[in-house]
Order: sequence, then C-alpha cells, then structure tokens
Amino acid sequence: MNERTLDKQFFGNCLSKMAELAEENRDYWTKLDSDIGDGDHGINLSIGFRAVSGQLAENLENTDDITGLLKKSGMLLLSKVGGASGPLYGSFFIKMGKDVVGKTTINFPEFVGMIKNGVDAIQFRGKSELGEKTMLDALLPGVAYLEEHIEEEPLVVMEQAVAIMREGAESTIPLIAKKGRAMRLGERAIGHKDPGSESSWMLMNVFLEEMKK
Ligand SMILES: [Mg+2]
Repeated sequence: MNERTLDKQFFGNCLSKMAELAEENRDYWTKLDSDIGDGDHGINLSIGFRAVSGQLAENLENTDDITGLLKKSGMLLLSKVGGASGPLYGSFFIKMGKDVVGKTTINFPEFVGMIKNGVDAIQFRGKSELGEKTMLDALLPGVAYLEEHIEEEPLVVMEQAVAIMREGAESTIPLIAKKGRAMRLGERAIGHKDPGSESSWMLMNVFLEEMKK
C-alpha cells in the first residue's frame, strides 16, 4: 500500500471502530485505573467516543477535509470527557490534522506526520516525558519507530510500531508514576499498568486494523 492513500472515510471508519473499542474495554480500562487512579478511565473514554460516533455521520458530511473531521471529533472528546484523558486524546485528534489542511486523502508519510503531531500535542498538554508511567511510554517509542521507517512498507512498519507501543504499555508496570493521580501512590503504583498507556496502544491499533482492510 505504498501507493495507497488514506481518505477521510478511512478516518471516519477508525473513529467508529475506536468507539466500539471503548465500549468493549470500558470495564477493563476502568479496572486498570481503579488500581492506581480514580477508576474513571474506561467510563470517560466510552462517554467521549459515544459522542464522537453519535456525531460521526454529521461530521463526515459537514467537513471538507480530514483535518476538519478530526478536529470536530477531538473537540467532542475535549468537551465531553472528564479526567485527564479527555483533554489529552482531544488534543491528539485536534492537532493530528494540522499539517494536512484541505486534504481529503493522504499518503503514509503524511499519516506518520499526523500521528507525530498528535502525540506531540499530548506531550505538550501533559507536560510529561518518557518513563513517567503515562500514555507517552506507549506512544513515544512507537512514533520514533514510525519516523525512522517512514519510507518502508506501511503495513509492516505500522504493525511493528503498534507492537512497540504495546510493549511500551507493558513497560509502565514496574514504574513509579511521576504524573497523574498515581503519583500519590509512590511505590504502591509498581506492579500496575498505566491505564492511559493501555488505551493508547489499543486505539492506535485501530488505525492498523483499518489499514489492513
Ligand atoms: Mg482516572
């Protein structure tokens, strides 16, 4: 699919699948968050993505480009979701399209740039670094891999990047949290996976699964 492009409908399909994913994993993500946080991660994401999917048809209809669709969807996450995850994921989608304004189709290098811009926005908003037991522990190593392999076969590269993100989520288990509510737990956070790192690799996996179709 080096020649293949991703269109606005692709992103619409991804958002719809992400909403399904959030429903399916609501209890699982909430359980992870109740171990070391306030137990609302899955509930928050399901509320947010329900809003996104509820307005998806209208947003597909009423936007001219990929940027517009992602921005409207991100704004919904930002406004409907409480906790830290709403603003973070909201920023991800809002900033994802900032370099593809006016485009209705993009190629893989542009897609990588979009993921990079989205993750940069999460990092900026969360003011966090690698190794602080956050979603960035999943996202940053995967983005670095994508950028290094941007010219290679997209599906292969994306598959590996998602695998790296998944490992990144696992890597949060032995960490002490330096951000978020889990920070207060100190060493008691050790042994628990960061819920945001788990939801983020799973959400990125949706892009991969849709690319395979
Ligand atoms: Mg929480």
